[in-house]
Amino acid sequence: MKTLYLRFVATTIFIMLLSGLIAFLLSNLYYQIKLKPYNNEKITRMAKNVTSFYQAHSEVDLHQYLNSVADLGYQIALTDGHKKLMTFGNPFSGTTLAPAAIDRVLRGQTYYGIAQYPKQIFVTGFFDDELSNTIGVPIDIKGKRHALFIRPDIEYLFGEMRVFFAVLVALTIGLSVTFVFAGTHYIVKPIRILTRATKIVARGKYNLSLNVDREDEIGQLARHFTHMAQSLQRLDEMRQEFVSNVSHEIQSPLASIQGFSKTLQSEEIPPAQQKHYLSIIEKESHRLSLLSKQLLTLASLDKEAGALEKTTFDLADQIKQVVFMMEWQWRKKDLAIEMELPETFIQADPKLLHQVWINLLTNSIKFTERGGTITIKIDKSRKKEIAVMVQDTGIGIPEQDLLRIFDRFYKVDKARERNDHGSGLGLAIVYKIIEAHQGSIEVASQENKGTTFTIRLPQM
Ligand code: ADP
Repeated sequence: MKTLYLRFVATTIFIMLLSGLIAFLLSNLYYQIKLKPYNNEKITRMAKNVTSFYQAHSEVDLHQYLNSVADLGYQIALTDGHKKLMTFGNPFSGTTLAPAAIDRVLRGQTYYGIAQYPKQIFVTGFFDDELSNTIGVPIDIKGKRHALFIRPDIEYLFGEMRVFFAVLVALTIGLSVTFVFAGTHYIVKPIRILTRATKIVARGKYNLSLNVDREDEIGQLARHFTHMAQSLQRLDEMRQEFVSNVSHEIQSPLASIQGFSKTLQSEEIPPAQQKHYLSIIEKESHRLSLLSKQLLTLASLDKEAGALEKTTFDLADQIKQVVFMMEWQWRKKDLAIEMELPETFIQADPKLLHQVWINLLTNSIKFTERGGTITIKIDKSRKKEIAVMVQDTGIGIPEQDLLRIFDRFYKVDKARERNDHGSGLGLAIVYKIIEAHQGSIEVASQENKGTTFTIRLPQM
């Protein structure tokens, strides 16, 4: 079956039919077990009343009497065992009855035909006006024993009820099927709308207007879907912004390299000037190479965030090596370095953490005025984590920028870094590395007073 709509309709109708069938079988069972014996007993009582009245008033005309009983809604048969069977009221549809049953009645016993009527799965027997489906009682007519068989004339008594129930069932089925068609349309409609929405999102359009107010599962699905579309939109915007940032970062060094190399080729320039231009070209190409390295680092961190090459090493030792490696840079600015680095073994990716300390220290050196101080501390006082603080007495970061400094390409104020050509990727890389180690990073800063970065890493 092709559509959910048809599938739903067919399933519901099938369930209705199956339930109807099971309900009929169960009620038939109930009839056979409970109602049939009751019915049998009731008609036996009635048959005995009919005969006992006649026995008490044998002066009445039997034929007239039995005809008037039949008129009240009964089918009656009378026989003496030899002559032809006489019937009163509507004729029986079948008149076969075992001669032994007639004999037994003639001998004075009662024939319980209703209780003995054969049980069938789909037939209650209630409506079968067979002679065998009667109650037989003995009756003495003018001194001669006869057998009287009697059963209610269901057609006469409940004929119109049959029509009533047939109309009821037909209407119930007809209306249910119509409502199932209409109701299914209502259920399936939002799924169709969602399907259309997925196609729209696949085409790159994210602003959907779905009915997300429904409280049911479909409403939930619509809400999650809208949420997903918004995330995709954000991701798409981030990707576009990232590409434009990268292009921008590449564009400016390339432009200056092109400009200076053209000047060098075309004009007669004094050697000192030439040297200056060449040094700019070198610096710009260095900047480009650094940028591509940073982008590669970020890409590999994005791709394999979980794939850390962990070893156990002394964190204090690693930080000291980085400070030592950068000595030339902090000495150039006359910065004092204070260290409180007790031996701290940690299980982490040494190459990546090395990059963290380089990025943080580079920033501290870059943004601290001549004569300032940089303090690096390891705090082992907590049981489950190690904290590393990198503090400087530099220019600080304005409060409104604190939340965004870990974003890719975010620079606080381009004017502050005119000479340093930062890419705005350093802290994004730090953040990503610490995140991959299940750690956290915090920043506290006051403008013109200094900045403190605190990194927490889980202890082994
Ligand atoms: P960059 O690679 O350009 O330095 P980062 O991502 O490392 O970029 O830093 C983002 C911004 O945060 C920088 O542009 C700088 O303005 C600010 N910043 C980072 N560290 C410090 C610091 N120690 N003191 C003051 N400002 C800082």
